[in-house]
Amino acid sequence: MCDTTEMEKEIRNPEIQSDLTIIGSGMAGLSAALFALNRGMKVVLTGKSSSMNFATGLMDLMGVYPAGSEWESPWDAIDALVKEIPSHPYARIKRENIRDSLQELMGFLNAMGLSYRMGNGKNVNVITSLGTIKKSYMIPEPMWKGVTALDKKASTLVVDFAGMKIYSARQIVSTLGNVWPGLRSARIDFPGMERLEEVYPEHIARALDVEENRLKLAELVKILLTGEDKNVEYIGFPALLGMHRVNETIASLEKALGKPVFEIPTPPVSVPGIRLYDTMTRGIEKIGALQSLPEMVQRVELLPTGPGRFRLTVGHEDMRQIIISKGVILATGRFMGRGLKAERTGIRESLLDLPVTQPEKRELWHHKELFHPEGHPVNSAGIETDELLRPLASPATPFAENMYAAGSILAHSDWTRMKCGSGVAIATAFAAVKAFSQKGIKD
Ligand SMILES: Cc1cc2nc3c(=O)[nH]c(=O)nc-3n(C[C@H](O)[C@H](O)[C@H](O)COP(=O)(O)OP(=O)(O)OC[C@H]3O[C@@H](n4cnc5c(N)ncnc54)[C@H](O)[C@@H]3O)c2cc1C
Repeated sequence: MCDTTEMEKEIRNPEIQSDLTIIGSGMAGLSAALFALNRGMKVVLTGKSSSMNFATGLMDLMGVYPAGSEWESPWDAIDALVKEIPSHPYARIKRENIRDSLQELMGFLNAMGLSYRMGNGKNVNVITSLGTIKKSYMIPEPMWKGVTALDKKASTLVVDFAGMKIYSARQIVSTLGNVWPGLRSARIDFPGMERLEEVYPEHIARALDVEENRLKLAELVKILLTGEDKNVEYIGFPALLGMHRVNETIASLEKALGKPVFEIPTPPVSVPGIRLYDTMTRGIEKIGALQSLPEMVQRVELLPTGPGRFRLTVGHEDMRQIIISKGVILATGRFMGRGLKAERTGIRESLLDLPVTQPEKRELWHHKELFHPEGHPVNSAGIETDELLRPLASPATPFAENMYAAGSILAHSDWTRMKCGSGVAIATAFAAVKAFSQKGIKD
């Protein structure tokens, strides 16, 4: 029984009834919300802002498997992977569903003005902030001309800003210069930030949302183009060409400079990651019956009968909210997202204490060599699911009939090494929503 204070709190916040409650607002949770809303479901989305603000904005599908083997075709890579790791999340999803998930997300982002591009079913090569080359699949439009410039090895000037501690155009050229002789670097002061010891990507990005600052920047770059860099074909900047108006910034710079301009991903905090998070959270609100609760789920109870089978308690004390839901998607991420926690005795799943596949002992989490080619076993730890992506409470029993899991909480997906982070998040979100819509929504 509730005491009076608890009852009062519940009266202030009446129960929310939903078809699907999504626990987690990262790439997996937001994608699941998009797919569910597009299918007319009543959705509650919970969770705080996620690791997306740190991510490059690139959407990898599958780039590397096994260690050291890079794949031109992510589809061939997935085939090879699932043969050897049959419990990898991709093994649970039909190829056409993986494809559809990416298309649906890209269509939504393009309609929201945050355009992405893919390259004919193949991975493309993207320049990283370290000057290495990375294979990725769905590329933010502002980075696409960099893919072309790299492909053609066109003469290109990469520019950075004095005071940027995390990104160096010179470093890019010194790493890539031997395979790309036409690459040059230049450093300039960002207009209005000349005296600052440190400048931050978010501040420059916000400044470039204003046309006056774009024109001032263009004037400084024009000076570079009067000397030996006169004939460069492309100009690359760190990925901070506007927080909300990157397309306008690029159009404005291209017009003033008369050359194609592109962005190069930066280390965290990443402006393209922030753009993606903001666009997705803003965009899904426009689609349909969505209630966003930017709070953590504290408890999930299974109800014996009734219109919904899950009772979720969200938030703390005064902010407490009860949700009655027909289905749940668990998309709580790994250690950073707080879906998994590392304890002295092992790795635990934080919310439901689901079993976690993990190395036997803590000493086996990491190889002694930091860059061991096989990666560190801890990075493949996570929860197991059945074929429908339902988390398992024991080797053969799902935790609940209509609970599904998506994203990096799933075991066997060492996403940083395999280059499959966003791909797994998006495709598993799609498959989980599809499984729920076929199985659970009528229950
Ligand atoms: C630095 C960095 C760089 C990256 N670069 C790339 C890249 O180049 N290419 C690529 O494809 N991917 C990249 N990624 C990965 C990608 O952005 C996603 O992080 C990854 O796909 C996992 O997403 P997720 O939704 O599973 O988890 P997360 O993003 O970790 O989200 C977990 C969510 O769950 C919520 N949560 C946890 N517990 C609860 C609870 N009890 N109640 C409610 N909510 C809860 C958290 O608040 C959070 O919103 C990068 C990530 C990082 C961190």
